[in-house]
This record gives sequence, C-alpha cells and structure tokens, in this order.
Amino acid sequence: MSASTLPPFDPADPLGIDDLLSDEDKAVRDTVRQWAADRVLPHIAEWYEAGELPGIQDLARELGSIGALGMSLTGYGCAGASAVQYGLACLELEAADSGIRSLVSVQGSLAMYAIWKFGSEEQKQQWLPRMAAGEVIGCFGLTEPDHGSDPANMRTFAKRDGSDWILNGRKMWITNGSVAGVAVVWARTDDGVRGFVVPTDAPGFSAPEIKHKWSLRASVTSELVLDDVRLPADAVLPEVKGLRGPLSCLSHARYGIVWGAMGAARASFESALGYAKTREQFGKAIGGFQLTQGKLADMAVELHKGVLLAHHLGRRLDAGKLRPEQVSFGKLNNVREAIEICRTSRTILGANGISLEYPVMRHATNLESVLTYEGTVEMHQLVLGKALTGLDAFR
Ligand SMILES: Cc1cc2nc3c(=O)[nH]c(=O)nc-3n(C[C@H](O)[C@H](O)[C@H](O)COP(=O)(O)OP(=O)(O)OC[C@H]3O[C@@H](n4cnc5c(N)ncnc54)[C@H](O)[C@@H]3O)c2cc1C
Repeated sequence: MSASTLPPFDPADPLGIDDLLSDEDKAVRDTVRQWAADRVLPHIAEWYEAGELPGIQDLARELGSIGALGMSLTGYGCAGASAVQYGLACLELEAADSGIRSLVSVQGSLAMYAIWKFGSEEQKQQWLPRMAAGEVIGCFGLTEPDHGSDPANMRTFAKRDGSDWILNGRKMWITNGSVAGVAVVWARTDDGVRGFVVPTDAPGFSAPEIKHKWSLRASVTSELVLDDVRLPADAVLPEVKGLRGPLSCLSHARYGIVWGAMGAARASFESALGYAKTREQFGKAIGGFQLTQGKLADMAVELHKGVLLAHHLGRRLDAGKLRPEQVSFGKLNNVREAIEICRTSRTILGANGISLEYPVMRHATNLESVLTYEGTVEMHQLVLGKALTGLDAFR
C-alpha cells in the first residue's frame, strides 16, 4: 500500500466517515447545513446575547419546508427519512446552536413522536401535518419542579369528570412551551401515567417563559401551568399507559442528541483549529507547539469516534435493533466528550475563547443543558451499570 495511491487525508473527515454516506444522505446533510449557514449562523451570537429566538414561528416553518420536523416519521406530511439522515440533520443543526437542534428534537422526537406512536388516528390527522409543516409548534411536558430524573412520582394529576378529564399541576423546564400550539402533557391518573394532547389555548393552561438562563439562551424554555384544564375524553393518548410512553419518546430524542452533540463539538474544534493555524505567539503559530497539537489530535480522535458511534447507532436504529441502553451509551459518551472538546477549544482560543465572536463558549454553555436534559450523565451511567451488572442502583 503506497501512500500516493491512497485518498488524501482530509482534516475535516480524517477517518473517511463520508464513505459510509449515500448520495441521499449527503444531500440531506448539505441542505440542513446550508439552511443553518443562511438562517442561523449570521444571527446566533446576537440572539444568544439577547436570550431570545426571534422569529421562531418563521424558523419552524422553514425547518418544516426542508423536511426537518418529524423527519424520520412516516405519513402525515413527514419526510420518512432514515435514522442516519435524521441524525445528520441534528448534527448540522447543533453545529449552529443546540437551541435550534432542541427546537427540532422536541418538535419531532418528543411532541410529534408521542402523537405518531401513541395517538388516535384523529389526533394524528389533527396535529401531525401542521406540525410537520412547522405551522404548529409542540412541546413535551414531563419534568416538574420537584420531579426531574424520577418522573414516576410526578404530581400533575388528571381526574375524570364525567367523560371529560380535568388536569392540574405544574411542569418545569419545558422547551418550546411559551410558543407551542399544542402540548403533550404526562399526568398521573387513577389508571397510571397517561399522555394528554393539550391545545395551549385551553382555559386554565399557561406557559410563562423561564428567563435568566446561562445556557440554551437561544431557545424558549417555559413552565407549564395547568389549573383545572378541562379536556374532552379523546384528549388522552389511547395507545400507551405508564412511564413506557414518555420514556420511549425520550429514547428517540436522545438518539438525535448522540449526533447533535458532535455538531457542537465539530464547530468548536473547527474554530480552535483555524485559530491555532493563524494565531502567533513566541514567533510562530500556536498550532506549531506540541502541546497545542496534542490537544488538537485528542479532540479530533474523540470527535470522529463520536460521529462513528452515532453512525453505528443510527444503522442499528434503521435495522430495528437499537436498544435503549445503547442510546444511553451514545448520549453519555458523546455529550461528555463534546463538552470536553468545547472546553479544550476554549483554551486554544485564549481570551478570545470567552467572546461571543467565536462559537466555542456558546456551545460549551449550551452543552451544560444537553448534559442534563434527556437523562443526566448519572442516569445514563446507572442505566449502563444496571445493564452490565444486573443490579439496579437507582434507589
Ligand atoms: C434547557 C432545558 C430544557 C429542558 N427541556 C425539557 C422539556 O422539553 N421537557 C421536559 O419534560 N423536561 C425538560 N428539561 C428538564 C430535564 O429533563 C431535567 O432537568 C432532567 O431530567 C434532570 O432533572 P432535574 O433538573 O430535576 O435534576 P434532578 O433529577 O433533581 O437531579 C439533580 C442531580 O442529582 C442526580 N441524581 C438524581 N437521582 C440520582 C440517583 N439515583 N443517583 C445518582 N445521582 C442522582 C442527577 O443526575 C443530577 O446530577 C429541560 C431542562 C433544561 C435545562
């Protein structure tokens, strides 16, 4: 094997992972990358600093028009893309900002997925086409002020009143809450945990926005307040009872995060690599120092290992073989490594690393949320620990 006959080394794809992609996969990736470059990157620092996502309804419609909402679902106006293609889209969106990827994940993998998987045909017809088009934004209310990692003890309760349901309770940290037209809300009933499709104009429903966040600032995060919200009998998701419902939605969304986190890592790494080649100290580019090269090499190894892992899990999902423990494996590794890549990139940029002129600190602070939501690091360690030992250490 002579080096001259080999394909050239590509710093953007050192392992040649692109070889795993079909032309259709690449087209999906390029479309989403271009959209993010045009619509998000020119504004994101400003939005982040202001702590808002202006024009979110327009952004949602545009994301709908490129097929990014409920992307891997079939029918009802959804794109029916493969799991790998959905993952590639998540990576490209999160390379722009985790807030944009969160908008898409919550819409497609949590709110739409819950209705698509567990809803009645009427619920699907009523909501999914408009959600796929981005005309209606959805949110997913599981977490409560006093119940995060342990949702089994949630307090939100739905009681029967004739054939109607009356919902009371509070949900906390709900992405898209204040801009949603529909909320999928999980509540206890006399018959176990059930999911409810709640139009957000229902009397008694409100969704005040949570301000003063230092992470995911370009994302809407809200409290959901349910004060005697009366819903008709057919508001309940008929096809699931118990925590299996929300947990299977979370597994679907976590899969997207396995890819997405590597987008934030890629953007930070690229920023650090570019800087290292041009910034000079002690008479030469800092990328020429061995200590900097050590950081760059280690980051490249973890970045591309993470992308490879995401591909592997995507292929298993497409083959119908992906287990929840394997999703935990991917989320645990990739988010943890992504945040390390951001922190190391920050050191290479020196003081400039703390500036919003560069994306690195924004990605690092975003990933603090990503590390916590959809199951904290510790929860995924416990999932894997249980799978490895057969011993439950959750309580
Ligand atoms: C920006 C953002 C957006 C979010 N969006 C949504 C959303 O759209 N919908 C939604 O329902 N939720 C959402 N969440 C909530 C998120 O899912 C929860 O924050 C998460 O599940 C953790 O719950 P908690 O914050 O209450 O932490 P806690 O559960 O109180 O955990 C605190 C700490 O204790 C640790 N811990 C808990 N139990 C154990 C144990 N048995 N062993 C060891 N350690 C343990 C945890 O790992 C963590 O480190 C969002 C959160 C954020 C920050």
